Amino acid sequence: MNTERMLEIIAETKEQYDYKRFLQPDRPFMPRKNYCSSIGDPCLRFLVFQRRYGSQAKKDAGLQRILDRGTLLERHLYNELGTFGAEVAEPQFPIDFPDLNLSGKGDWMQKFSFGWAPVEMKVVSYSDRIKSVKDFMDSDQRYHRRYVYQLTAAMVAQDASVGAFLIFDPVSFDWKLLPLELDWDLWEEVVNRCREIETHLKAGSLPPAMEWHETWCMNCEYLDRCRESIPEVEYGLLTDPELQDLLERREDIRASYLEYSKIEKSLKARLPDCEGTFRAGPFEITGKRVERQSYAVEAGSYIRREIRRW
Ligand code: SF4
Repeated sequence: MNTERMLEIIAETKEQYDYKRFLQPDRPFMPRKNYCSSIGDPCLRFLVFQRRYGSQAKKDAGLQRILDRGTLLERHLYNELGTFGAEVAEPQFPIDFPDLNLSGKGDWMQKFSFGWAPVEMKVVSYSDRIKSVKDFMDSDQRYHRRYVYQLTAAMVAQDASVGAFLIFDPVSFDWKLLPLELDWDLWEEVVNRCREIETHLKAGSLPPAMEWHETWCMNCEYLDRCRESIPEVEYGLLTDPELQDLLERREDIRASYLEYSKIEKSLKARLPDCEGTFRAGPFEITGKRVERQSYAVEAGSYIRREIRRW
């Protein structure tokens, strides 16, 4: 059998596996309630569309794998914490607010020195960029903002004034806890959002569309129902023949680069801050002091670039 045929067989096997394991049955998702995990979505109109039309989005094996990974890690960490003496209880505790038609599940309750608090575990790659809950709120990832509302609902359901995120990084296997104090204004926003959704569903109306967001709106499954037209972006065409290859290569090595930068940062903190030559196993490390010149940065402008793959 030639290599090409072998590769074909491997691809077919993977396709069958994905189809059986992740893609069947391909049922449309028809939410009858508001869910704590999505109520903080930046776009209220999206939530009304979702309740009205359900989600027809095709299941994606890659996304399903990520969700499954989260569930596995969550169970594993819950058991691990118990093994190491942490007091944990009520895995997957229910969150139910029937008057708001809002429900969901919290990950678990954990006893800290100040008392019991709900914990939400979130898997975040390269989690260094999330240093506080504010980073979730300011994030360009629509899911990050949802997390804060979800934990807030869990705190209200458990009558707890403090909750915590357990952030697990699947790249470094590092984890940290980020505390969240109950913010009653945020909870009021949850309450108002639930009520607004129900009002719009009954009246057959829609909340205003959010300001056009290039990533969220372009990838929104309700784009054609929501917008009559897409704001035009004027593209300049770049014709450098090597540009695309360079951009592809950049994507390929991006993960390694981020990992490299992280290690560089960690090494900087661990290596002695003095001149000299040192050995670490087979590595020789030389430190030489370099005098930094002071100079004033002249005022001016520059182009900040963002490169995305469509
Ligand atoms: S297209 Fe944009 S504004 Fe419209 S529902 Fe989707 S995310 Fe919201």
